[in-house]
Amino acid sequence: MKITEHISQASSTLLSYEILPPLKGKTIQSIYDHLDPLMDFNPSWINVTYHRSETMFKKKLDSTFEKVEVRKRPGTVGICAAIMNHYKIDAVPHFICGGFNMRETEDALIDLNFLGIDNVLVLRGDAAKNEASFEPEPGGHKYAIELQRQVVNLNNGVYIDTDIQNGGKTNFCVGTAGYPEKHFEAPNLEIDLQYTKDKIDAGADFIMTQMFFDNKKFFEYVAACKQAGINVPIIPGLKPITNKKQLSVLPRIFHVDIPTELSTAIMKCKTDEECEIVGTEWLVQQSKELKAAGVPVLHYYTLGKPKVIRNVVKEIF
Ligand code: FAD
Repeated sequence: MKITEHISQASSTLLSYEILPPLKGKTIQSIYDHLDPLMDFNPSWINVTYHRSETMFKKKLDSTFEKVEVRKRPGTVGICAAIMNHYKIDAVPHFICGGFNMRETEDALIDLNFLGIDNVLVLRGDAAKNEASFEPEPGGHKYAIELQRQVVNLNNGVYIDTDIQNGGKTNFCVGTAGYPEKHFEAPNLEIDLQYTKDKIDAGADFIMTQMFFDNKKFFEYVAACKQAGINVPIIPGLKPITNKKQLSVLPRIFHVDIPTELSTAIMKCKTDEECEIVGTEWLVQQSKELKAAGVPVLHYYTLGKPKVIRNVVKEIF
């Protein structure tokens, strides 16, 4: 079912989770072990992130170097299919521009459609580790909106090769990313919002946000979206802080602020266990306030912390 249908049919705030594909060598059982403790609370869907392959230079016997593509994690599409089959709920694959040309993207979309996957979160992806800034694949997309146009084209039965006969129309519900604290490359929030509005006008059905730790920033973002004429559901992305290192890692990687009250409380902790207690309580309070404000969904980044997310979710749902 489409995310927009889940939301329009709901009488109160829904719950969804996000997982990362496990590292290579693990099996699907590691996903089930991660998700099982979280399934008691009836999530409406599960997002599965996508991680592009990395380029490495490996030394050959003759001492020259060869460039090799290394995939660290198994494929998102297969994991989505397994989740749908095992739990009988929707899985939402993340789909990125980075590392794909348009033909590979089309083939992957055809696979998603074949598997009965109704939703896709369309993203640009970050720069590869060896690049200073994002470089599209030759024949690929530079911005998320271009990838999104390809998905919308397929929804209209428009394939890359115009001579494809009876290609059929897909019917994907399309999500896009939103940044309550602005995307780090955008000169300001207004311009970032204008690009987000362009994506909505080009057919995105909902926004899923970057994590944030201060609800005020989310409420201001929602108000700014309304002001800019964006009227699709905006789904807040939520993550717990569970150790001191995250106080610097999260701002560096995700370009988000940690409120002083939270950082001070975490700094006072003597162990990771104490940090987890503080982070859990903070996320419970954040979730309660967002739910009371009537957000359509609470979307939790579970990223290796199912126990913490379970402790939060059981207080809310
Ligand atoms: P875009 O919409 O293309 O925007 C990128 C930048 O370009 C922004 O600064 C924007 O303001 C600007 N911009 C947009 N359009 C234009 C234009 N036409 N001209 C000029 N500038 C423009 N990454 C992954 O690799 N895998 C994942 O699974 C993943 N999941 C994510 C889930 C969520 C909810 C979020 C919020 C992010 C996720 N990301 C993921 C990270 C995301 O890929 C990065 O934040 C990336 O840097 C930007 O992606 P985007 O889709 O917002 O890009």
